Formats: sequence, structure tokens, C-alpha cells
Amino acid sequence: MVVGGAGTGKTHVLTRRFGWLVEQGVKAESVLAIALSRQAANRMRGALEELVDPPYEELYSGTFHSLCARLLRDEALEAGLDPAFVPVTPADRVALLLDRIPELQLRHHEIRGNPAPLLASFVSRIDRLKEEMISPQEIRSHAERTVAEAHDADDAERARGAREVEFAGVYADHDRLLSERGALDFGDLLLRAFRLLHEKPQVRERVTSRFRYVLVDEHQDTSFAQGMVLALLCEKGRQITVAGDPRQSIHRFRGASEKNLHDFREAFPEAEVVALEESRRCRRRVLAVAAAVLDGEGDGGLSAAREGGEVRFWRCASERAQAQAVAAEVERLISAGVTPDEIAVVVRSVKDDGTVAGAALEERAVPFQLTGSAAFFARAEVRDVLAWLRLLADPGDSGAAVRALSRPPVALHSVDIARLTQLARRRKLDIPAAVAVALEGPQLSPEGRDRAQAFLRLYRAALGAFEDRRPDAFVLRLIERVGIRRQQVFATQADTVERLRNIARLPELATAFMRREPQATPRDFTRHLKAVADSGLPEAEAESPLVTPAVRVIGTYDLKGYEFDHVFALGLSAGMPDTEPGAATDGVPDALLKERLAPAGHADAQMRRLLHVVMTRAREGLVLAWAEGAEGAPARPSPFVAQACAATGTEEETIEEELFGAAEGLHSTFRIMRDELLDTVARVGGRLGEMRLDTSVDVSNAVASFLELVKVAAVIDRSKTGQALDEAIAEVNQLLTQGATPEQREVLEASALDGWLRDAGRDPERRPASGAAGSEPSLDPFIPRRGDGLMLSASDIETYRICPLKYKFARVFRIPQEPTINQRFGIALHQVLERFHQHTGGTRQELFDLFELSWRRAGFGESDDELQFRERALDALERYWERVRDEESEPVWFERGFAFRLGPHLVRGRVDRVDRLPDDTYELIDYKTGKARTEEQLREDVQLSVYQMGARESWKLETSAQSYFYVMTGEKVPVEHSEEQLERVRTTIETIGDGIMRQEFQPTPSAEICPFCDYRIICPAAEK
Ligand code: SF4
Repeated sequence: MVVGGAGTGKTHVLTRRFGWLVEQGVKAESVLAIALSRQAANRMRGALEELVDPPYEELYSGTFHSLCARLLRDEALEAGLDPAFVPVTPADRVALLLDRIPELQLRHHEIRGNPAPLLASFVSRIDRLKEEMISPQEIRSHAERTVAEAHDADDAERARGAREVEFAGVYADHDRLLSERGALDFGDLLLRAFRLLHEKPQVRERVTSRFRYVLVDEHQDTSFAQGMVLALLCEKGRQITVAGDPRQSIHRFRGASEKNLHDFREAFPEAEVVALEESRRCRRRVLAVAAAVLDGEGDGGLSAAREGGEVRFWRCASERAQAQAVAAEVERLISAGVTPDEIAVVVRSVKDDGTVAGAALEERAVPFQLTGSAAFFARAEVRDVLAWLRLLADPGDSGAAVRALSRPPVALHSVDIARLTQLARRRKLDIPAAVAVALEGPQLSPEGRDRAQAFLRLYRAALGAFEDRRPDAFVLRLIERVGIRRQQVFATQADTVERLRNIARLPELATAFMRREPQATPRDFTRHLKAVADSGLPEAEAESPLVTPAVRVIGTYDLKGYEFDHVFALGLSAGMPDTEPGAATDGVPDALLKERLAPAGHADAQMRRLLHVVMTRAREGLVLAWAEGAEGAPARPSPFVAQACAATGTEEETIEEELFGAAEGLHSTFRIMRDELLDTVARVGGRLGEMRLDTSVDVSNAVASFLELVKVAAVIDRSKTGQALDEAIAEVNQLLTQGATPEQREVLEASALDGWLRDAGRDPERRPASGAAGSEPSLDPFIPRRGDGLMLSASDIETYRICPLKYKFARVFRIPQEPTINQRFGIALHQVLERFHQHTGGTRQELFDLFELSWRRAGFGESDDELQFRERALDALERYWERVRDEESEPVWFERGFAFRLGPHLVRGRVDRVDRLPDDTYELIDYKTGKARTEEQLREDVQLSVYQMGARESWKLETSAQSYFYVMTGEKVPVEHSEEQLERVRTTIETIGDGIMRQEFQPTPSAEICPFCDYRIICPAAEK
């Protein structure tokens, strides 16, 4: 048994042992080498192959899953399996469950209009249960027993019991659906292999006589089921070598971190234990902090082979400040000679937090790659194909349609898109139909007409083949027809090769899907792909290695097996990082565990180990950062990180959000100009398609755009060597103009670029258009103007405040959206309450009659999701009625409108309810049907301040209170607004108004907002 901390060379010892065995004459194929993750197994295989000459095909090296799959195929007859069985990924299983959702009983779990995340959490839990070898029947019996024994359980406990019974049903259905398809999930591979070895001695004999030596890496994280298979493989005097470190156990729960190594010692008391005590990976300072996080002090029994190292603790003013500081530091490291792939930015969730970090890296043109869960579906090129597929499957999918229109090769100007969405809205058409109508009228610009025609041609041609082709052939053809591969070939981004590989993976995914679903159509594949993208689960087959050096943005749980020179660990606020996604409460009842574990209560220890693993991925430098402003997180660092900071006597640095400085200005200008140039290559080329009088002017403009881009790149490069900006611009200008024609020189000299580059501040208005390419017409006709200002509602203000780009999609483009079930539900309840107060005598019966009427009118049906909403609504109305019955205040106005001027703007709104209180003052009430927020969370609230101003200005009514009424829980949360706060909100509205008037629609991605944004498919900030 080899025991040693991070970076001490445990894996190396295992591979050396393999090499030694082979040198002693042992056949390579009689050694079984097992690693826990696919990446680690690949690396181990590479290292073993180096040691046998020539590389050995029959090497038995892989993960437990791959080895069990191989075993089951080899012994398919004995296992009673079709040897062509297909192992299915978690994403496949979610898609399968989604497909068969009408067959699943889901009355007690909240679906909230989108079942994919719920089903993804079920799939994760099923995996955990299979790791512990717990069957659906055991879960069901346990749940039923618990419900039966809970005589005096409260409502919440009874509901929990009902959910457990329901989950057991879904678990059984899940397994039935897989077996109907002859498919096995990863858990099944282990369970079937175990059963085979356990029940068929002749098979066990065959297998074990083949593997005389077994090597297992990361044994501390071997699961219970894996351990059981291993025990059968090692029966009868096999020679087994395991390597592990209990301090790095992050996948074993409760008290299991030490168990595997402890059990090993008991099973093989004669085993020699080799302790490795010197870390060759981490420098001394890095190791000291990583050791301190384990127990608050000690060195963890490890010494560092190398002195030095740098560790920094950052307290950041906001998530954005955190991401900006990381990007700036990463850029500094790269300019100091560190290659980008030696840097990792570690985030809790790649899908949610990764894009915020990615946006900051992108601003500085630092190449990066999102690695791990669902990162594949954040790629722009993948989303382009997905958007086309979604549009073909459902022409009413406006988000997908707008993406297809706005991206190359169609690349319609914003203003033409706004015209099309307006037409679609007014005529109640889907977007492709609106495009057809627009082509018969004068709405579009001449250039827009050409592009719209191109769109329609592509759309109709693809639609013709959508129903009757094989999915893989269709996807391949779609990619070629839309020209998505071609665009990448002509692009110049550093990650072009990677983008091409991602595109190539889509038809591969379709082929893999067809292997599992031979009768599937492109529509089925689209549904599958969308479900996988929505569920947030990784698409295993889509995992892509780094093909160009890039900074890795990677999730905490995907880190194992990697090491880097520099690691930035983000989001280390108190309470984070928590347990593995999907395993927050690991969902395995103690009573069903088949192994004896130390008592529970080790959540802290598990978090410490996780942080230790993150920290020990760094060789040279480590930054541990937390952000004050992260919503829902307390404004303090993780206590373990704080402890490590104190124990090592390191000072915490304070990081403020940076206003755009000169460096950011240069980088963002470069990026914007580069993107504009790439996006408009075809447009510029189109102008040269025919000889005209002004063709030479077009050529000069196009070349000047390119030269300007070269200029910015050169100035950035020179600024890294410390050259003064003015001097750099002057020298670069001289070099460029030497090679330019007189016409190009003229365009360059007339450009405002130099002036802007010299400007240290950032003012998007002053950003020059890149030569001939950047001439976007104004969206002015679509801005909701009133007189000299705007017409604004409280929700407009809120939307712009959380993300200006979202405002553009929702209020300027006004992209038609089918209301979600949540929205329909909210509207129905609002109507019920309004009518109840306004038109009835206020009896309970009247309230419920109104609800029935409104429910039918809103077109709700009988699906599980709808019935759940109904049950929750009935409960909520019961509570509401009891509450209003006892209230002393008197509701006097409902849905009362207001309008007032604020500077040049007209602010309008409608207040759900105004109550006269017993002391003759008034309270404004806004109904909410979503999740309740606390007073603290509502500190920055704008909506009720706007209502308060509206009441004062429009109705001349001073109010004494304003509150949100959360209908579903019956909570009323008052929001205090002092005069200073009102003044602050007034200033906010003015700033927002100015931003809209200037058409500033920059995205402000955030992990709290983006996952729920309806415009993700279109938004460039939500992708890489
Ligand atoms: S996805 Fe995020 S950044 Fe993009 S529009 Fe929506 S809220 Fe804004």
C-alpha cells in the first residue's frame, strides 16, 4: 500500500511497479491497472505504454467502469447480455426520462415548468445509490416504512415521505426503461459485473487467473460497489498494490474517507506500507496553506521538495471584481512567460460561474477553455447548430430564430431583427413566417432583404430534409449548408481548431444517439440535445482535450488528476464550496448502507479535503478568492480558508471592482474590433462582388479596418514592455502608413481610433467603428420613447439594472416568448386576487370559484406539473383567505395605475393593491408568486421605491409602508425606503434612462441571473 499526500508521486510508484514486474518477466496483460477518472486512466495508460516496448494493445488499464464493460462484453453469454449493449451517459438517461415523462409519477416533486434539472438530480442520486448497491425495491421499502412509522409527523415530514416513495418509483421506472433498451448505465456496469463474478465461479476463475497483479490508484475514493468488484478480482492470492491519500478523499461520503485504506490494511495485514512524505509538486508555501486548511495548523506530515511559492488571499468587492482581478493577473503571468495551459481558474460550477470568469478573460483576449460539466453546450459554435435544430423542430422558438438570424452566415443587423420581431408580434406569426411576409413589404433594408432571403432559403431547404433523414446525416448536412464549419475555417481565433473539433463532435453525438435509438429522427435528436443542454449534465462523449494552449476554467469536482503552475480558486465564501453538485444531501439513507462507516457529521472535514485538493493542484502560485457581493452568500470567507490564511500569517488583499483602465480599454477594443471584422468579412466581400465606381473605396476601408486591428495588437504588445502609449501609437502609425496606399492612409488618418486609445477611461460611445465594417444602423425607432425621454416601467428598470443586454432582447427586440408555465400561473393568481377584492363579497367560496374559472380560462391541463401548480395554488389561497379575513387593514385600490415624470422620462406602473391601515395611513402591496426573498435580499430593491414615488407624484398619496406579499407562502415582507434611498433610486433610473437612450446594451453576466434568463440561446455572454 502506497500512502502519500498530494504530489508525492503515488501514481509514479504504481507505474514503476508495473515496469519492474514486466522487467521480472511478468506478462503485461496479466497486470490490471485501475484509475478512478477517465483522464487519470488515460494518463496512466500512456505512462504504462512507455514502459513496454512496443506499445501493448492488450494492456488492461482503465477505469472501473471501462473494465467492467470489457468484462461484461467478453463474458456476455454468461452475463445474459447482448454483447452489443450500449453504456449510456447520465445525459442520455435524463433525455430518456424526459421523453417518457408522462409515464412517470411526479406529483410530489416540484417541476416548476422545466423537469430537466429535477430529472438530472434524480439521475445523480440513482448513481449514488448504485455506488452503494442499493436497489429501487430497497429504497421503496425504506420510504414506505418511514412513512408508516411517522405517526405524529408534521406536514413537511409527510410530504418528504411521499416524495421518497415517488422517487423510488422513478428509480424503478428508470431501470425498467434502460433494460427495455438493452442499455446499462455506469452503476449497472459495476452491479452486473459484481453479480457475474459473484454468482459464476467459473467466470471468476477465468478472470482472476488472468490478472495475477492488480494496481489501483486513488484508492481512497473507490466506491463501495467498486470495492466489492475489486475484492472478487483479488481473491486467492492476487498481488494487489493500492495507492491513496485519505486527505484527498472527495467522493466518499460521511466517515468513509479513511475507510478504504483502513479496510485494506485489515484485509491484507501482511501488506507492506510505503509512506511518501515529500511533495514534489507544490512549493513550500503552497503546501503550508494546503496543509493548514486540513486542520487549521499542522503540516499534514508532508514536506516540500521545493522552497518558495506564492499564496494570496483576495477579498473581492463583487463577483465581477473577482473575475476582473483574475483576468488581469492571468494576463500578467502570461506576459511573464507562463503558458496559458499552466493556469487554472477553479469555479464551483462551470455552467454558472464559469461564464463570468470567462467573460473577464475574454475581455483581455486571454485564450481559455471551459472544462467539465456542460461546458460543451456553452460553446458558441455548438449553440449555433443547436439554435438551427431548435428552430427547425419548432418555428415558434423565437430565441433560436433570433440567434439563427443574428449569427453568420445570415448576420442581420439589429435593426432588421427588431423589424422582424415587431412584425411577428403584431401579426402573431412565428419568425420564419414573419421573414417571408417582410420580404413582400418594404420593412427591411435592401441589405437586410438579401440576408433575410438567404435565411429563408437555408431554412426551407433544411426543413425539407428534417423529417426524413437520419440525424447524423442531417446534422452533417446542416453544418455544411449553414456554413458553420466554413466560418470557423476563415476565422482567426486562437481556438479555431478546437471549435472545428467541437463542430465535428455534433454529428458524432448524433451517430452515438442513433446507435442507441436506431429509428430516431432529427427531431428526436434535437429534443435529446436540448434536454442534455438544459439539464446541465456533462455530455461525456463531447469532452474535448485542449488542442491549443488555453487557461482552463474548471469545476472543483473535475480537478482531480490535473496539476498546474498557477491556480486561482474562486467563490470561497462561507458555505462554499459545498458538496458535489447533485450530492448536496447525498440521498443515501443511513439505514440502507451496506458498509459500516464512522458516524456522520463530517461535512466540515469533507469541505476541508475538497479545498485541500483544490490547493494542491498548484505547483508555484495559488490565489484563494471570495466575493462579498455574491447573492445568498454571507459576506465572509469560508472559515477554513480564513483559518488557513491566519495560520500561515498571510495578509488578505482587498480587490475593488476596476473601472476600465487603459489596459482593459486596449484589450476590449481589440476584441470588439476583431469580432466585428470577422463577422463582417462576408459583408465587405459582398460589396466587392461586382465592379462599381466606389469599389476601390470599399477596398481601402476594408484594408484600413484590418490595419487598425494590427495597430491595436501592436500597441498592446508594446505596452507590455512598458513603452509609453503616445510613443507606441506614433511609432506603429509610422510603420503602418509606410505600407498603406494613399487612400488607406486617408482612412487611417481620419479615424478616431488613436484618440480613443489614448483615453484611459472607457466610454463606449467614443469607441470608433472599425473602418468600413462597423456601420450598424441605430435602433432608435425601437427604443420606447416618450417626448425627449423614455417610457419606463418598474420592470423595465429592473431588467436593465440586472442586465442591459437582457433589456435589449426583452424590450427593444421584444422577442416574442411563449409565456412559461410559471408566468401563466402567476398571471392567473393575480387575476383571481384582483377580482376577489374588487367584485365579490369576499367569501371563501367566491375566492375558490374565481380560481376554478381562472384556471380553466388559462388553459391549464392535467399534466403532473400543472396539477402540482394547482395543488399549491389551492393551499396558498386557503392561507390567503384566512389571512385577509383576520386583517385589520382595508384594501381600497387594486391594479391602480400611476405615471409620473422623472427628468425627461415618463415612469409608469400599476400597483397590485393599496390598503388603508387602521391608523389611516396607506400601504402599497405587490403580489409575488415566486420564491420569497428576505428584507436583506431586498435591500437594493427598486420596484417598490418606484411605486412609492408613483403614489406620491401621481396620486398625491404619502404611504407609510410598502411590501411584497409572497402568495405561495403567505409571507408579507415590508421594504423600508428612506428619502435617501428614494434619491438613490431616482439617480439609478436617470442613469438607466441615459444608458437606454445611448443604446448601451452591454451584457452583465452573473451566476444568479443567467441560468434563468430566457435569452441564453442568443446571448454571446452566456457562451464561449
Ligand atoms: S444570459 Fe445573462 S448576460 Fe445574457 S442577456 Fe441573459 S442575463 Fe444578460
